Order: sequence, then structure tokens, then C-alpha cells
Amino acid sequence: MSIQTFKIKGMHCASCASIIEKKVSKLSGIKNIAVNYASEKAQIDFDEKVAPPTSINNEIEKLGYSLVLPEREVSITIMKGHDHMGRDIEKEVELNNLKEKNQFILPITIIIFALMMWDILARTFVGIPNLPIPMELFNTISMVLATVALFWVGKPFIAGVGRFLQYRIANMDTLIGIGTLTAYIYSVIITILPSIRTLIQVPDYTYFDVTIVVIGFITLGKYLEINSKKKTGDAIEKLLNLQAKTALIMRGGAEIEIPIEQVVYGDLIIVKPAGKIPVDGVVIEGSSYIDESMITGEPIPISKNIGDTVVAGTINTSGAFTFKAIKVGSETMLAHIVKMVEEAQGSKAPIQALADKISSVFVPIVLIISLFSLVLWLTVGTSYLGFSQALSIGILSFVSILIIACPCALGLATPTAIIVGVGKGAKEGILIKDAGTLEKLHKVNVVVVDKTGTLTRGKPELISIQNTSSKTDNELVRILATLENKSEHPIAHAVVLYANEKKLELLNIDNFEAIKGKGLKGIIGGIKYYAGNMKLIEELKLSFDTDSLNKETIEGKTPVILATKEKVLGVIFVADAIKPEAVLAVKNLHALGIKVVMLTGDNKNTANYIAKQVGINEVVAEVMPEDKLNTIKSFQAEGKIVAMAGDGVNDAPALAQADVGIAMATGTDIAIESAGITLLGGDISKLVKAIKLSKITMRGIKQNLFWAFFYNIIGIPLAAGLFYPIFGWLLNPIFAGFAMAMSSVSVVSNSLRIKAMKL
Ligand code: ADP
Ligand code: MG
Repeated sequence: MSIQTFKIKGMHCASCASIIEKKVSKLSGIKNIAVNYASEKAQIDFDEKVAPPTSINNEIEKLGYSLVLPEREVSITIMKGHDHMGRDIEKEVELNNLKEKNQFILPITIIIFALMMWDILARTFVGIPNLPIPMELFNTISMVLATVALFWVGKPFIAGVGRFLQYRIANMDTLIGIGTLTAYIYSVIITILPSIRTLIQVPDYTYFDVTIVVIGFITLGKYLEINSKKKTGDAIEKLLNLQAKTALIMRGGAEIEIPIEQVVYGDLIIVKPAGKIPVDGVVIEGSSYIDESMITGEPIPISKNIGDTVVAGTINTSGAFTFKAIKVGSETMLAHIVKMVEEAQGSKAPIQALADKISSVFVPIVLIISLFSLVLWLTVGTSYLGFSQALSIGILSFVSILIIACPCALGLATPTAIIVGVGKGAKEGILIKDAGTLEKLHKVNVVVVDKTGTLTRGKPELISIQNTSSKTDNELVRILATLENKSEHPIAHAVVLYANEKKLELLNIDNFEAIKGKGLKGIIGGIKYYAGNMKLIEELKLSFDTDSLNKETIEGKTPVILATKEKVLGVIFVADAIKPEAVLAVKNLHALGIKVVMLTGDNKNTANYIAKQVGINEVVAEVMPEDKLNTIKSFQAEGKIVAMAGDGVNDAPALAQADVGIAMATGTDIAIESAGITLLGGDISKLVKAIKLSKITMRGIKQNLFWAFFYNIIGIPLAAGLFYPIFGWLLNPIFAGFAMAMSSVSVVSNSLRIKAMKL
């Protein structure tokens, strides 16, 4: 079994997505399929041996769609299906095609529409003369135009009718096809078979205008929709454009410029002032400031010296330096971001489930309603109005219902907002894993934050030494650094760094072991040493006076107690500076009515001190890693929606347990599996922005859904002529076509508004 994403061609509406889902999920070897109409992608969980993509493609090709085989992991500059500007080639072709059709049909639509308005006015007001065109000539010209409109411009709709007849599968195209075709066929009969007309005693009034104008409006709407849909997805295009096309490298002592695809691991890359960083790597010579705003959203250029990491897509300011390529092609952070954004934009938000359900049953129901309405007019209507008038109202309402009931806006409501929201997040350095995460985030009412690396810099420094042994301070540090040299904990880095600065040589160590949540141990020079927190000392049952320890910890320092099996040798204190943005972040979270809790394995006093500094008043300290997860669970048991922010190193289980796991990314490492959201640059204040983004996006979705539903609920009875007996209201199919086109356009525009909103 594997999950893969495929591009789908040929979708015209939201119901297409559910048609494909239904068809494919019935095939053997398919576990799950989610088709997204807005991003035109399908995520399939399937067994490739039982159901190879080619056979899936064969199945859906019958229905008028096709599966584009997956993009292999190529360097992102040459991403398949995109031109050198990162534009989607297929989209451009489709747009050009629609543009051509619009150039033909729009002028005609406008003229016919104007003539129709004239006709209506002339019949209503006495002073206005009748149309100066003989009816017969007008009908003949209209027939020719309607034929072209229907069979060329409206080809997808006719194809929809064809599929309906052949496979009994109906989508939006089918509705519009049946509607316009009905108006057309009726009018053709009236025009060329006057004998039938006299037989059933109807006026020589035709509905070619309906066919032309409905197809015209819907084609225009489609064009506007695709055009703005393109704008919803331009975050990817912008990210792809960040990628440099070439790199300047050192080979055989000479500087040469090579295409980005040819850069390999270990190449030495030269970056000139104002140059782009072509791949990810580590600075080995020189220094500079780099503008990383395009990736992290951080406006201030970051200082880079030897040993610092640089990432592809960022821009050098004035210095010059050389770096070693570490990650190239699809491994770079930029490539990961593109992939993540793309997948998130293509994923489905839970809120969409309802809209999906409705649009999948909508089309057949609408077909039934429209037929029912026609039958009612021809029976009940005839007895009140006479056959001739009942027939014309019946046909008009039949066509109107089919046209206005298209669930297109409904299908666009959620995904377009998600695409814009996810893209906006990426621009701010907020990477969102999927639509479900973005949806959940707005409901969060408790944020649990890890201390080290999230509220503090995660780069503690050795501050002081309390020596209670006969050894010198340096000897004590040397032993501790030897132990810590094997550890990944931030405390370890502080001790090792200090030992290096003091030029203390490390010793040989045997039987090293980390003691989870407590510290570490190992044998040095035949003696077994322990280092860690009070829990460790309690476990060893050593006597230890905690008074002097408390004096330091209440000032925020973290103690590392060094001991043998017999006695405590001394305490080394490290301290970690608070991130300046943490204070404001906590304040803003409180302002949003969110409870903030600090969770740490560190000493209680130390934790309380830091909490006070950043304004947090709830602290859970001295917790073992497995208890971090339980803390999250206990909040959830109270019915709270919990977000957990951590560095992802030893917090992974807690991140996974939380409703929303938020990882702080530093350097080039963003692939944190258990996190739903990754904050680039490790900036906790982005969490506030992420929550605001979620709120804005969800509000946009709800507005969209409301309007899409509202419009269909009002539109269908109006179109059916339900208000005709009471108010004399009827919906002309032409206005139905206009309303239908505008509803999609307005939903997409509303989603685009999210882009401009302030976080
Ligand atoms: P946290 O990430 O919140 O510090 P951990 O579970 O990683 O939580 O660690 C819990 C505690 O165990 C630390 O606060 C520290 O007191 C002690 N500890 C863990 N690893 C080390 C280490 N390498 N050196 C010293 N103390 C350590
Ligand atoms: Mg930690």
C-alpha cells in the first residue's frame, strides 16, 4: 500500500470530484481516494500491484477525466508541467482556450442580452417601440449563433449530456447541457417545423437567446474562476521562483557557473554580494548577512559565519562567502516547503465533508426536481393557464432549475480558502501540514509550550560552578564535559562548549548511558560518574544540601549535579536566555483568550523563574518525557483543544498527542513528522499569527458555504416558479446563468480576500 498524489485532468465542477471518488473507490486495490476539485489533485491510498495508475486512468477516462502520472522527484526548477517561470502550462492552455471562446461568445451574448431587455421593456411599457427586426429573421440568425454557441463553446456541456446517456453519470456539465440543449431543441422545432407549432398552439417565441446567453455567462464565469483560482495558488509559483537557476562553483581551482541541477553534495559554492543561495549548505569561508525573509518571514538579515547553515532561495546582502553544498535538488529546505505546501493545499478540510456530500447527491436530485416541476406545470399549470402558457413557463423553469442549481460554488467554497490560507502561511514562515490542522487550530484554547528551545534560545551557557570536592573546578568540568560530549541535550552543548573554550582535553569514557529525563552516566578512569538533576541524586540516595542549589535555581539557572556512587562532587549551573519575542507571544496568546502552560523536564525553581519572565502563570515542571504526553492528555480529558509547541527532539510523542503539534524549526531541519505546523526560524510569536490565520480562513470558508447554500436554497424554488402563483415571479434562465457564474466568481474572490488580511 502507498499513498500518492496525482494530477487529474478534465474536472469542471465539484461533482466531478465525487464522481471520480465513487468510481475509483469501487476498484479493487484502492483503500482510499480523496479528490480535490480546487487543486485538481487526487490523493490515492492504494496497492500499486493490484491497481496500477494506468488502469485507474483507464477507468476514469471513460468518464471524461484523466490521471496524470506522478511527478518524479526532480529538481524543483524543472518541475514537470511548469514552465521556466514556474507557471502551470496546462492551466495556461486551458485559459487561452477559454479566452478564445469568450472572444466569440461575449459580444454576441451582450447584443442578445440587450435585445432581450429591449423586448421585455417594450412589452411592459407603452412608449417603447417593438424590436425593429422581423421575428422570422431574428429567429434564423439566433439559430445559427446558438448552434455555434452550443456545439463549439458549449462542447463540454454537450459531452456531459453524452456521458449521462452512456454511463448514467451526471455532473454540473450535464445539468447545463440538458438545460441549454432543451431550450435549443424546442426552439429549433418551433422555427423549422411551423406545423408542429400550430398543432400544439404555441407562439413563435424561441429560446435561442437562453442557449446563447447562458453558455456565454457560464463560459465567462469559468474564465474568471480559473483566472482567480490561479491566483489562489500562486504561493507555489512564488516559492518556485525563489530557486536560483545556476550556481557558481569551485572546480579544479577555477570558478565555473553550472545549472542548478548539476550541483552535487560537497560542491564548494561561491556566493557574491546580492547573489542567491542556490542549494542548502554550511559556510566554510567568509561571512555575510543573509536575507531569509522569503523563507522564514523574518525581515532582518541574519548574520552568517563559518559553520552556519544557509538555505536555498535566500539572498545574500553585501558580503561574499563560500559554502559547502549539503542538500541539493529535492532535498533542500525550499523543495521540502514546496512539497509540503502543495500537499497541504491539496488536502481536504473536515468542514468540506458536508459540502461534498451535498454536491454528490445534488445533481441527481436537481434533475428530479426539474422534471417534477416541468410535469407539474404541464398538468396543474395547464388547467389554470392553458397549455400554451404552461408549456412555456414549464420549459423556462425546467431550464432555470438546471442552470441555477449547479453546485459549483459549493465545491469551491472550502478548498479555495484553504489554498489561500496555506499559501499565506508559507509566506509568513508558517508551514501547515494539512487542511485539517488549519481547521483545528482556530478552536485551540490551551497552548502547551516546551521551555528549552521554544521560550528560551535553547543555547544555554555555563554560568557558575559550586565545587564541593577536592578536585579543581577545571577537573570537574573536564569530567562533566566528557560525559556530556555524548549527549544531544542543549545542556550538554553548553558544557562541552565551555570545556573547549578553556581548552580542556576530554577523557576516555566507557559504558556511557543516558538516563531518560534525569541525566547521564559513564565510567571515566575506572570511576563511575553520574550527572543530572535532583531526581538522579534521589535515585542514588546521596545526601545533598539543596539550600545552596535553590538559591541559584530561583534565578533561572539549571543545575547539573556531578556525583559518584558515594557522594556529590559539585554542581555546574547553566542558564539559557529567554527569546525576546516569547514575552509578546505569550501576551498575544492571552489576549486571544488562550491559556498558556509551560511544560518542562527542568527544575521547578528554574522553570518558575523563566515562566515569570515571559508571563506564563501555569507551570508543569520536572516531568519525565512520557509524562509530557500525559499532561496533554489530561487537558484533553477536560475537553480542551490543545496545541503543543516544542522543538520536536524529545517532544515528539507529546506533539503527536496534541490536537495540533507545533514544531520550532531551526536551521535547515523542517521535516518534523509529528508536527502539524512548523514555525520556521523557531519563532514562537508566529504561533499567534498561525492561530489568526486559522480563524480568518475558517471565517472565509463559513462565509463561502453560507452564500453557496443560501443561493441554491433561494434559487431553486424561484426557478421552479414556486412564487409565480403568488407574486408572479419567474426566473428567466438567462438570469439563472448569470447568477450561477457570479456565485462561483464571488466565492473565489472572497477566498482571495484572505490573502490581503493582516495577521
Ligand atoms: P527538557 O527538554 O524539558 O529539558 P528532558 O526530558 O530532555 O526535558 O530532560 C529533563 C531533565 O533531565 C533536564 O531538565 C535535565 O535536568 C536532565 N538532563 C537531561 N539530559 C541531561 C544532560 N545531558 N545533562 C544534564 N542533565 C540532563
Ligand atoms: Mg527538550
